Amino acid sequence: MVAKESVRSSKGNSESESRQKVSRSDELREALEEMIITGRLPPGARIDEGALVEQFQVSRTPMREAIKALIATGMLEMRPRQGVSVAAISIPKLMEMFETMANLEGMCAKYAARRATPDEIAQLLEIQGRLEEELGSNNPDRFYEINGEFHELLYDASHTEFIADQTRMLRRRVSMYRRHVTYLPGRMAATIGEHGKIIDAIKAKDPSAAATAATEHLNLLGDDMVDFIARLTRTMDVYQ
Ligand SMILES: [Zn+2]
Repeated sequence: MVAKESVRSSKGNSESESRQKVSRSDELREALEEMIITGRLPPGARIDEGALVEQFQVSRTPMREAIKALIATGMLEMRPRQGVSVAAISIPKLMEMFETMANLEGMCAKYAARRATPDEIAQLLEIQGRLEEELGSNNPDRFYEINGEFHELLYDASHTEFIADQTRMLRRRVSMYRRHVTYLPGRMAATIGEHGKIIDAIKAKDPSAAATAATEHLNLLGDDMVDFIARLTRTMDVYQ
């Protein structure tokens, strides 16, 4: 028996408040996306439309639309004779996505160095302070969450709606893999230092230093990458 699911996750709630009307299928898409991102529906997992309809207490049409929308964004995939499952991304493709992500974050930081308001800079510092506090608490999930706030704010501070949207979209797609990085030993402490460089460059209104700092922060090449792949292949079904 599956637990009944609410279509409004905490994130869905705040998002839908900012919009006048969100369709049922949009709500379901967001709820499924959240389940994929948090790993409750891991890569390779089969999507059972009937079970989801039951779980969310909705009719088939909006569920089918939500699934179609997630196939279109690449989060779900349809295979002949196997039906729909959570996309299991190959390692080379995942690497490309991370690299693109690093460049997009770099662009956001570049524009933030030109356009961030004093208030946005103060908020970046406030979030950075909370990350520092979290460092000793050995709670990677909480750290990951606050780190997400930092990056969201960085996108807003770029004041470039299109690039910010593209960055958010890709971040959501890679986040189920990305989450594992937080668990690497020493990664949390390194994050604090790297965020510090980004903030310094934004404060100094130095776009190229900000872009470099943000791109490097997201770059997983080198030793980190080898550790990351080892960890990923141990914990997830990425090769299928
Ligand atoms: Zn970060």
